[in-house]
Amino acid sequence: MDFGPIEWRPKFATKQGENALCAPTPFLAIKEEEMMKNMNKMMELMKQWPNVDLRPHFKAHKSVDIAKQQIKLGAVGICCQTLTEAESAVYGGSIEDVFISNEVIGVGKVKRVVQLALKSKISICVDNEENIKDLSQLAKESNANLDLVIEVNVGQDRCGIKPGADVVPLAKLVESLPNVHFKGIQAYHGWNQHVRSAAERKERTNTVAGLAQKTVECLQSANIKCPYITGGGTGTFPYEAGTGLFTEIQPGSYVFMDADYNRNLNEKETFYSGFVQSLFIYTTVQSITGDERAVVDSGMKAASLDSGPPLVAGKEDSVIYHSGGDEHGILRPNDGFKVGQVIQLIPGHCDPTVNLHDVYYLIDGNEKVKAILPVNARDAG
Ligand code: PLP
Ligand code: MN
Repeated sequence: MDFGPIEWRPKFATKQGENALCAPTPFLAIKEEEMMKNMNKMMELMKQWPNVDLRPHFKAHKSVDIAKQQIKLGAVGICCQTLTEAESAVYGGSIEDVFISNEVIGVGKVKRVVQLALKSKISICVDNEENIKDLSQLAKESNANLDLVIEVNVGQDRCGIKPGADVVPLAKLVESLPNVHFKGIQAYHGWNQHVRSAAERKERTNTVAGLAQKTVECLQSANIKCPYITGGGTGTFPYEAGTGLFTEIQPGSYVFMDADYNRNLNEKETFYSGFVQSLFIYTTVQSITGDERAVVDSGMKAASLDSGPPLVAGKEDSVIYHSGGDEHGILRPNDGFKVGQVIQLIPGHCDPTVNLHDVYYLIDGNEKVKAILPVNARDAG
């Protein structure tokens, strides 16, 4: 893949070509061959659905370099969840087509999104009249154009309007206002991604698709065209894509995978076979107590714990990571680890883990550091 210049800071004494095991830990490592395998696997799968676009989610990696590679392979653009992500993609990466799959609320943020729309093609989720009016007014003042996607609550009870007839007045409002354009609907259900059984994920996705279909039918009976239906993450995207209804899918984590998504791999017959772990936390054993435990230098500042703890690569079943607080992880039992040994952890949940780090070490098949890539959009909003 292509990447920008290495970002040097005093901490990053590791030079290009050096062995990754000598770099100061903890750090986040991407194994490039594995990541490319995941990107290529996704493009291979996409061939089954010629009428469905891939718009990968930037929230997983927050990296302009990775986003550009995804677009080079055939993605139509990217999704972002935060305005900071969208700004780094547009200002830092000149990415031309960005969908913010989330509501952008408040005059300050609306002004920023309008500025983005002067540079790239921007679409945003909406579910509120006042917000739509603000977006139109401020876009008009700056002579910008925004595509608006009405978010429908398909069961996660996060944002979005009730599926069905409520979409009609909102779409009509968008169509009646200047400088905003009705693009379609978002029907995304986050929890469904992490249901373990493939059959159940499929069944739940069919329920989501039913609610989206009902909403599209309401638009059609009001003579409003809905050419765009977007949704689906790493856990369910083949099911959305296979409905014939969705025109776009938005998976993010597939580039890296994580311990949580790897648990979906239990069912070998699913589309998952072929996606591999590419993201690791390299960590050093700093203290041992006989066979009882080994303490590593990766705590909550290095690894998110929200979807369960990280796993020790190669010892997923024999060693358990326990939280040791902000800077420590406690591995039990001590399965032959030695003080000073560098080991690899598989993050429990890739997105919030990435948000804890300033950079990635991109590593080749020989454990050599190929580049240090910035995490461009570290932020919560
Ligand atoms: N779309 C939306 C709206 C999301 O919130 C998310 C993740 O939270 C995704 C897509 C991507 O999900 P994943 O990284 O699990 O593939
Ligand atoms: Mn996630």
